[in-house]
Amino acid sequence: MNQNPLLTPAFPSRLPKVGTTVFTVMSALATEHQAINLGQGFPDFPCDRELISQVNSAMLSDQNQYPPMIGVAELRHGVSKKISTLYGHDYDPDTEITITAGGTQGILTAILSCVGAGDEVVIIEPAYDSYRPSIEMASGKVIAVSLIANRDDQGRVNSYSIPWDDLTKAVNPKTRLVIINTPHNPTGMIWQKTDLDRLANLVRDTNALILSDEVYEHMVYDGHQHASIASHPELAARSFLISSFGKTYHVTGWKVGYVAAPAAMMAEFRKIHQFNVFTVNTPMQYGLAKYLENAEHYLGLSSFYQAKRDFFSKGLTQTGFELLPAPATYFQCVNYTNLQIPQAKMGEADFCSWLTTKIGVAAIPVSAFYAHPVESGVIRFCFAKKEETLSKALERLQTL
Ligand code: GLN
Repeated sequence: MNQNPLLTPAFPSRLPKVGTTVFTVMSALATEHQAINLGQGFPDFPCDRELISQVNSAMLSDQNQYPPMIGVAELRHGVSKKISTLYGHDYDPDTEITITAGGTQGILTAILSCVGAGDEVVIIEPAYDSYRPSIEMASGKVIAVSLIANRDDQGRVNSYSIPWDDLTKAVNPKTRLVIINTPHNPTGMIWQKTDLDRLANLVRDTNALILSDEVYEHMVYDGHQHASIASHPELAARSFLISSFGKTYHVTGWKVGYVAAPAAMMAEFRKIHQFNVFTVNTPMQYGLAKYLENAEHYLGLSSFYQAKRDFFSKGLTQTGFELLPAPATYFQCVNYTNLQIPQAKMGEADFCSWLTTKIGVAAIPVSAFYAHPVESGVIRFCFAKKEETLSKALERLQTL
């Protein structure tokens, strides 16, 4: 009984173990201490003026009311064409593609649309920090397996492999969904076609659906290729494909992404979507639709970011950090445990706080990608920054 009517009644938390996401925490700390923010993944350079002017024209031509709940037709058609050209799968723009308020909303909505109480959802850690709470919001049960880090003779991580033995054990008749992320945040690991074949074998005789988070699909380096779930017909028939315009077009603050899935899955997705965000802002969708017509805008992204990765990683070789592989995404992970400073013994979260507040460079502790933090002394830097920003950060890191 609430004795004092002015007090908010106590209620049980839906997410008792969840605090504020590490990306927000580290960005706030970076702002507070005027540190260079290489933590949360977003560019510090402007997007193309052409994209802004397309959005501007849409606004000025009065495209400012509710768009269709599923997204404007031009953008859905553009997405369908892009996927068909790049990955060879034809999604029907009317029944199989929905424009979302960014990748994270697409992920939550997809999970809410198919996961119920007690359903098992398999994730591979390190995993983006929204997956687990999203599954918990659906009252699903998280089954986490760990990515395998392969090491060279000196014990340095030189590649990652998918934990097939653990995955085989994890997938069973109660599995409702398997979440994969390629290219992978934070390691940059890329699923190969043969990996998709193995996944198909694993789920073939089950009712498990797949959610494939591919928001970094256009940032793949050194001649590697992104193998989309859409390029695998058998998997595409049971998959939600998630992507993001924010990542691809340097407009993370616009919060526009999309989900593609077979019509039966998309019908359920839209039931949730319509009562969640309902729809996504109209002029951005028209602007993005026009901009998407020119494939150069996304096809050039890998070489654009590879140059940044090379610049940043070359600078890091002048520090005591050990570089981990960075074959994709706009993240570079490093191990700090061999630095000749007392802080090298700190846990990852403390090390990142220290680096932000005392050295002036913010990073993300990779332990934040695990429910039960695995402390391997690894932190993540985002290199989606102007060269001058990276240079300034490198100057500071080279003092360590
Ligand atoms: N995906 C981004 C990252 O890993 C963050 C997105 C967010 O903060 N919601 O940095």
